[in-house]
Amino acid sequence: MTVRTSDIEKAAGVLRGGGLVALPTETVYGLGANAEDPAAVARIFQVKGRPPSHPLIVHISGAEYLDDWVQDVPATARLLAEHFWPGPLTLVLRRGRRVPLEATGGLETVAVRVPDHPVALALLSAFGGGVTAPSANRFGSVSPTTAAHVRAELGDAVDFVLDGGPCDIGVESTIVDATGEVPSILRPGGVTREALEAVLGCPISVPSTSLVRVPGQHPSHYAPRARVILVEPEKVASEAELAQEQGHQVGVLLPPACAGAAVKAHAVVALPGSMAAYARGLYGFLRELDQQGCDLIVASLPVEEGLGLAIANRLRRAAGPRPTV
Ligand code: AMP
Ligand code: MG
Repeated sequence: MTVRTSDIEKAAGVLRGGGLVALPTETVYGLGANAEDPAAVARIFQVKGRPPSHPLIVHISGAEYLDDWVQDVPATARLLAEHFWPGPLTLVLRRGRRVPLEATGGLETVAVRVPDHPVALALLSAFGGGVTAPSANRFGSVSPTTAAHVRAELGDAVDFVLDGGPCDIGVESTIVDATGEVPSILRPGGVTREALEAVLGCPISVPSTSLVRVPGQHPSHYAPRARVILVEPEKVASEAELAQEQGHQVGVLLPPACAGAAVKAHAVVALPGSMAAYARGLYGFLRELDQQGCDLIVASLPVEEGLGLAIANRLRRAAGPRPTV
Protein backbone atom coordinates (compact mmCIF):
# COMPACT_ATOMS: atom_id res chain seq x y z
CA MET A 1 0.00 0.00 0.00
CA THR A 2 1.57 3.29 -1.07
CA VAL A 3 0.99 6.65 0.52
CA ARG A 4 1.40 9.83 -1.57
CA THR A 5 4.37 12.10 -0.75
CA SER A 6 1.87 14.98 -0.58
CA ASP A 7 0.03 13.13 2.22
CA ILE A 8 3.27 12.63 4.15
CA GLU A 9 4.01 16.37 3.78
CA LYS A 10 0.48 17.23 4.87
CA ALA A 11 0.76 14.98 7.94
CA ALA A 12 4.14 16.53 8.86
CA GLY A 13 2.49 19.98 8.58
CA VAL A 14 -0.33 18.87 10.89
CA LEU A 15 2.27 17.75 13.47
CA ARG A 16 4.14 21.08 13.16
CA GLY A 17 0.87 22.93 13.72
CA GLY A 18 0.21 21.08 16.97
CA GLY A 19 -2.31 18.64 15.47
CA LEU A 20 -2.79 14.89 15.79
CA VAL A 21 -1.98 12.39 13.03
CA ALA A 22 -2.92 8.70 13.07
CA LEU A 23 -0.04 6.77 11.55
CA PRO A 24 0.52 3.15 10.59
CA THR A 25 3.36 1.25 12.25
CA GLU A 26 4.28 -2.42 11.97
CA THR A 27 2.66 -3.08 15.38
CA VAL A 28 -0.63 -1.10 15.57
CA TYR A 29 -1.82 2.34 14.41
CA GLY A 30 -0.51 5.19 16.56
CA LEU A 31 -2.04 8.54 17.49
CA GLY A 32 0.89 10.88 16.92
CA ALA A 33 1.78 14.37 18.12
CA ASN A 34 4.94 16.46 18.18
CA ALA A 35 6.76 15.04 21.22
CA GLU A 36 8.15 18.48 22.07
CA ASP A 37 4.78 20.25 22.08
CA PRO A 38 3.15 19.83 25.52
CA ALA A 39 -0.23 21.15 24.30
CA ALA A 40 -0.32 18.66 21.41
CA VAL A 41 0.74 15.85 23.77
CA ALA A 42 -2.06 16.88 26.16
CA ARG A 43 -4.56 16.51 23.30
CA ILE A 44 -3.54 12.87 22.87
CA PHE A 45 -4.55 12.15 26.46
CA GLN A 46 -7.80 14.06 25.99
CA VAL A 47 -8.76 12.27 22.75
CA LYS A 48 -7.90 8.82 24.14
CA GLY A 49 -9.42 9.47 27.55
CA ARG A 50 -6.08 8.26 28.89
CA PRO A 51 -5.02 9.19 32.44
CA PRO A 52 -2.14 11.73 32.19
CA SER A 53 0.03 9.53 34.41
CA HIS A 54 0.28 6.86 31.64
CA PRO A 55 3.51 7.58 29.73
CA LEU A 56 3.72 7.60 25.93
CA ILE A 57 6.28 6.16 23.52
CA VAL A 58 8.46 8.63 21.57
CA HIS A 59 9.01 7.46 17.98
CA ILE A 60 12.21 8.52 16.25
CA SER A 61 13.49 7.90 12.72
CA GLY A 62 16.75 6.11 13.53
CA ALA A 63 18.98 4.73 16.29
CA GLU A 64 21.49 7.48 15.43
CA TYR A 65 19.11 10.03 17.01
CA LEU A 66 18.74 8.15 20.31
CA ASP A 67 21.05 10.46 22.23
CA ASP A 68 18.94 13.49 21.26
CA TRP A 69 16.09 12.11 23.38
CA VAL A 70 17.68 10.21 26.28
CA GLN A 71 20.69 10.36 28.59
CA ASP A 72 23.13 7.80 29.99
CA VAL A 73 22.52 4.98 27.53
CA PRO A 74 23.94 1.69 28.92
CA ALA A 75 25.92 -0.52 26.50
CA THR A 76 23.17 -3.17 26.63
CA ALA A 77 20.57 -0.66 25.44
CA ARG A 78 22.79 0.29 22.48
CA LEU A 79 23.21 -3.36 21.61
CA LEU A 80 19.44 -3.89 21.62
CA ALA A 81 18.79 -0.71 19.60
CA GLU A 82 21.39 -1.68 17.00
CA HIS A 83 19.99 -5.15 16.72
CA PHE A 84 16.24 -4.58 16.75
CA TRP A 85 15.67 -1.09 15.29
CA PRO A 86 13.78 -0.35 13.21
CA GLY A 87 11.41 -2.82 14.87
CA PRO A 88 8.81 -3.58 17.54
CA LEU A 89 11.10 -2.97 20.53
CA THR A 90 10.64 0.00 22.88
CA LEU A 91 13.48 0.93 25.20
CA VAL A 92 12.82 2.75 28.47
CA LEU A 93 15.81 4.98 29.24
CA ARG A 94 16.62 8.14 31.21
CA ARG A 95 14.70 11.13 29.89
CA GLY A 96 16.60 13.69 27.82
CA ARG A 97 15.78 17.40 28.16
CA ARG A 98 13.90 17.55 24.85
CA VAL A 99 11.19 15.29 26.21
CA PRO A 100 8.53 17.17 28.18
CA LEU A 101 7.24 15.59 31.38
CA GLU A 102 3.76 15.60 29.81
CA ALA A 103 4.94 12.81 27.49
CA THR A 104 6.38 10.66 30.27
CA GLY A 105 3.54 10.95 32.76
CA GLY A 106 5.92 12.90 35.00
CA LEU A 107 8.59 10.17 34.97
CA GLU A 108 12.33 10.79 34.63
CA THR A 109 12.47 7.91 32.16
CA VAL A 110 11.19 7.89 28.59
CA ALA A 111 10.13 5.09 26.24
CA VAL A 112 11.67 5.33 22.73
CA ARG A 113 11.46 3.27 19.56
CA VAL A 114 12.12 3.32 15.81
CA PRO A 115 9.10 1.85 14.00
CA ASP A 116 9.68 -0.53 11.10
CA HIS A 117 7.11 0.86 8.68
CA PRO A 118 7.89 2.86 5.53
CA VAL A 119 5.03 5.32 6.11
CA ALA A 120 5.93 5.95 9.75
CA LEU A 121 9.60 6.39 8.83
CA ALA A 122 8.75 8.73 5.93
CA LEU A 123 6.61 10.84 8.27
CA LEU A 124 9.31 10.95 10.96
CA SER A 125 11.90 12.03 8.38
CA ALA A 126 9.66 14.68 6.82
CA PHE A 127 8.70 16.01 10.25
CA GLY A 128 12.27 15.95 11.51
CA GLY A 129 11.50 15.47 15.21
CA GLY A 130 10.13 12.91 17.64
CA VAL A 131 6.50 11.81 17.57
CA THR A 132 4.76 10.61 20.73
CA ALA A 133 2.23 8.00 19.73
CA PRO A 134 0.19 5.66 21.87
CA SER A 135 -2.22 3.32 20.10
CA ALA A 136 -4.94 5.24 18.24
CA ASN A 137 -7.90 4.00 20.28
CA ARG A 138 -9.85 5.03 23.37
CA PHE A 139 -8.06 4.17 26.60
CA GLY A 140 -8.50 0.52 27.59
CA SER A 141 -10.01 -0.68 24.34
CA VAL A 142 -8.69 -2.81 21.47
CA SER A 143 -5.79 -1.29 19.49
CA PRO A 144 -6.46 -0.44 15.82
CA THR A 145 -4.67 -2.45 13.15
CA THR A 146 -6.25 -0.74 10.12
CA ALA A 147 -6.99 2.89 9.22
CA ALA A 148 -10.71 1.97 9.16
CA HIS A 149 -10.48 0.92 12.84
CA VAL A 150 -8.98 4.34 13.68
CA ARG A 151 -11.69 6.24 11.80
CA ALA A 152 -14.46 4.15 13.36
CA GLU A 153 -13.15 4.71 16.88
CA LEU A 154 -11.74 8.26 16.85
CA GLY A 155 -13.46 9.89 13.85
CA ASP A 156 -13.02 13.67 13.72
CA ALA A 157 -10.95 13.78 16.90
CA VAL A 158 -7.90 13.03 14.69
CA ASP A 159 -6.77 15.79 12.31
CA PHE A 160 -5.35 13.44 9.68
CA VAL A 161 -5.22 9.67 9.15
CA LEU A 162 -2.40 8.14 7.10
CA ASP A 163 -3.60 4.84 5.65
CA GLY A 164 -0.69 2.42 5.31
CA GLY A 165 -2.81 -0.72 5.06
CA PRO A 166 -3.18 -3.40 7.77
CA CYS A 167 -0.42 -3.69 10.39
CA ASP A 168 1.90 -6.60 9.85
CA ILE A 169 2.59 -7.63 13.47
CA GLY A 170 -0.75 -6.69 15.02
CA VAL A 171 0.24 -6.47 18.70
CA GLU A 172 2.13 -3.64 20.38
CA SER A 173 5.90 -3.39 20.81
CA THR A 174 7.87 -5.22 23.46
CA ILE A 175 8.80 -2.70 26.17
CA VAL A 176 12.18 -3.26 27.83
CA ASP A 177 13.44 -1.36 30.85
CA ALA A 178 16.98 -0.64 29.68
CA THR A 179 17.91 1.95 32.31
CA GLY A 180 20.29 -0.48 34.04
CA GLU A 181 22.85 -2.99 32.79
CA VAL A 182 20.37 -5.83 33.34
CA PRO A 183 17.33 -5.20 31.15
CA SER A 184 13.87 -6.58 31.90
CA ILE A 185 10.66 -6.91 29.89
CA LEU A 186 7.88 -4.59 31.09
CA ARG A 187 5.40 -5.64 28.41
CA PRO A 188 5.78 -8.58 25.99
CA GLY A 189 5.17 -7.67 22.35
CA GLY A 190 6.38 -7.95 18.76
CA VAL A 191 10.01 -8.80 19.59
CA THR A 192 10.01 -12.17 21.32
CA ARG A 193 11.66 -12.94 24.63
CA GLU A 194 13.66 -15.65 22.85
CA ALA A 195 15.03 -13.14 20.29
CA LEU A 196 16.05 -10.75 23.09
CA GLU A 197 17.75 -13.54 25.02
CA ALA A 198 19.64 -14.67 21.91
CA VAL A 199 21.12 -11.18 21.50
CA LEU A 200 21.75 -10.59 25.22
CA GLY A 201 23.19 -14.05 25.74
CA CYS A 202 21.31 -14.44 29.03
CA PRO A 203 17.75 -14.87 30.31
CA ILE A 204 15.55 -11.78 30.59
CA SER A 205 12.77 -11.44 33.15
CA VAL A 206 9.15 -10.94 32.12
CA PRO A 207 6.33 -9.58 34.28
CA SER A 208 4.73 -12.22 36.45
CA THR A 209 1.57 -13.50 34.84
CA SER A 210 0.23 -15.00 38.06
CA LEU A 211 -0.67 -11.49 39.24
CA VAL A 212 -2.84 -10.97 36.21
CA ARG A 213 -4.75 -14.17 36.87
CA VAL A 214 -6.06 -12.88 40.18
CA PRO A 215 -9.33 -11.05 39.61
CA GLY A 216 -9.51 -7.52 40.91
CA GLN A 217 -5.81 -6.77 40.63
CA HIS A 218 -5.37 -5.75 37.02
CA PRO A 219 -8.05 -3.65 35.40
CA SER A 220 -8.90 -4.56 31.85
CA HIS A 221 -6.98 -3.14 28.88
CA TYR A 222 -6.82 -4.13 25.20
CA ALA A 223 -10.47 -5.09 25.78
CA PRO A 224 -13.40 -5.42 23.39
CA ARG A 225 -16.91 -4.33 24.48
CA ALA A 226 -17.90 -7.94 25.08
CA ARG A 227 -16.72 -9.51 28.33
CA VAL A 228 -13.86 -11.98 27.79
CA ILE A 229 -13.49 -15.24 29.68
CA LEU A 230 -10.49 -17.54 29.43
CA VAL A 231 -10.84 -21.31 29.76
CA GLU A 232 -8.70 -24.35 29.01
CA PRO A 233 -8.54 -25.02 25.23
CA GLU A 234 -10.51 -28.26 25.50
CA LYS A 235 -13.34 -26.45 27.34
CA VAL A 236 -13.81 -23.58 24.86
CA ALA A 237 -16.62 -25.28 22.93
CA SER A 238 -18.54 -26.57 25.99
CA GLU A 239 -18.26 -23.28 27.95
CA ALA A 240 -19.39 -21.35 24.89
CA GLU A 241 -22.43 -23.59 24.41
CA LEU A 242 -23.35 -23.34 28.08
CA ALA A 243 -23.18 -19.54 28.07
CA GLN A 244 -25.17 -19.41 24.84
CA GLU A 245 -27.86 -21.60 26.43
CA GLN A 246 -27.91 -19.21 29.39
CA GLY A 247 -28.91 -16.40 27.04
CA HIS A 248 -25.58 -14.80 26.13
CA GLN A 249 -24.61 -13.85 22.61
CA VAL A 250 -21.37 -15.80 22.65
CA GLY A 251 -18.35 -15.19 20.43
CA VAL A 252 -15.66 -17.85 20.29
CA LEU A 253 -11.96 -17.70 19.48
CA LEU A 254 -11.63 -21.35 18.50
CA PRO A 255 -8.11 -22.79 18.95
CA PRO A 256 -6.64 -24.61 15.93
CA ALA A 257 -6.70 -27.88 17.94
CA CYS A 258 -10.52 -27.67 17.89
CA ALA A 259 -10.74 -26.76 14.19
CA GLY A 260 -13.81 -28.18 12.53
CA ALA A 261 -15.72 -28.62 15.81
CA ALA A 262 -19.37 -27.55 15.44
CA VAL A 263 -19.75 -24.98 18.23
CA LYS A 264 -23.22 -23.70 19.13
CA ALA A 265 -22.47 -20.01 19.57
CA HIS A 266 -23.48 -16.66 18.09
CA ALA A 267 -20.18 -16.20 16.19
CA VAL A 268 -17.05 -18.31 15.84
CA VAL A 269 -13.57 -17.24 14.70
CA ALA A 270 -11.39 -20.19 13.71
CA LEU A 271 -7.92 -19.10 14.86
CA PRO A 272 -4.99 -19.49 12.48
CA GLY A 273 -2.33 -22.04 13.34
CA SER A 274 0.66 -19.71 13.15
CA MET A 275 1.31 -17.34 16.06
CA ALA A 276 2.29 -14.57 13.63
CA ALA A 277 -1.09 -14.82 11.89
CA TYR A 278 -2.88 -14.99 15.25
CA ALA A 279 -1.10 -11.85 16.51
CA ARG A 280 -1.81 -10.04 13.23
CA GLY A 281 -5.50 -10.90 13.43
CA LEU A 282 -6.15 -10.78 17.19
CA TYR A 283 -7.54 -7.25 17.55
CA GLY A 284 -9.49 -7.52 14.31
CA PHE A 285 -11.12 -10.75 15.54
CA LEU A 286 -12.15 -9.09 18.82
CA ARG A 287 -13.57 -6.08 16.95
CA GLU A 288 -15.45 -8.40 14.60
CA LEU A 289 -17.09 -10.28 17.49
CA ASP A 290 -18.14 -6.94 19.02
CA GLN A 291 -19.61 -5.87 15.70
CA GLN A 292 -21.56 -9.10 15.43
CA GLY A 293 -23.27 -8.21 18.72
CA CYS A 294 -21.52 -10.67 21.05
CA ASP A 295 -21.70 -9.82 24.76
CA LEU A 296 -19.35 -12.60 25.86
CA ILE A 297 -16.19 -13.94 24.22
CA VAL A 298 -14.82 -17.35 25.18
CA ALA A 299 -11.12 -17.91 24.45
CA SER A 300 -8.12 -19.86 25.71
CA LEU A 301 -4.49 -18.87 26.15
CA PRO A 302 -1.95 -19.98 23.53
CA VAL A 303 1.35 -21.56 24.57
CA GLU A 304 3.43 -18.69 25.95
CA GLU A 305 6.39 -18.98 23.61
CA GLY A 306 7.41 -16.60 20.84
CA LEU A 307 4.54 -14.26 19.97
CA GLY A 308 2.27 -16.47 22.11
CA LEU A 309 3.62 -14.60 25.17
CA ALA A 310 2.31 -11.25 23.88
CA ILE A 311 -1.02 -12.75 22.73
CA ALA A 312 -1.59 -14.38 26.13
CA ASN A 313 -0.71 -11.10 27.87
CA ARG A 314 -3.31 -9.17 25.81
CA LEU A 315 -5.99 -11.83 26.33
CA ARG A 316 -5.40 -11.82 30.10
CA ARG A 317 -5.66 -8.04 30.17
CA ALA A 318 -8.79 -8.13 27.99
CA ALA A 319 -10.32 -10.55 30.52
CA GLY A 320 -9.38 -8.32 33.48
CA PRO A 321 -12.06 -6.73 35.64
CA ARG A 322 -13.87 -3.81 33.98
CA PRO A 323 -13.90 -0.37 35.58
CA THR A 324 -17.23 0.26 37.28
CA VAL A 325 -19.07 3.14 35.61
P1 AMP B 1 0.71 2.29 24.23
O1 AMP B 1 1.46 3.31 23.45
O2 AMP B 1 -0.74 2.57 24.37
O3 AMP B 1 1.01 0.92 23.73
O4 AMP B 1 1.29 2.38 25.70
C1 AMP B 1 2.61 2.73 25.95
C2 AMP B 1 3.17 1.82 26.96
O5 AMP B 1 4.51 2.22 27.26
C3 AMP B 1 2.42 1.83 28.27
O6 AMP B 1 2.22 0.51 28.69
C4 AMP B 1 3.35 2.55 29.22
O7 AMP B 1 3.18 2.15 30.54
C5 AMP B 1 4.72 2.20 28.66
N1 AMP B 1 5.73 3.22 28.98
C6 AMP B 1 5.93 4.38 28.36
N2 AMP B 1 6.89 5.10 28.95
C7 AMP B 1 7.32 4.37 29.99
C8 AMP B 1 8.30 4.60 30.99
N3 AMP B 1 9.02 5.71 31.05
N4 AMP B 1 8.48 3.62 31.90
C9 AMP B 1 7.74 2.48 31.85
N5 AMP B 1 6.81 2.23 30.93
C10 AMP B 1 6.59 3.16 30.00
MG1 MG C 1 -2.58 1.34 23.90
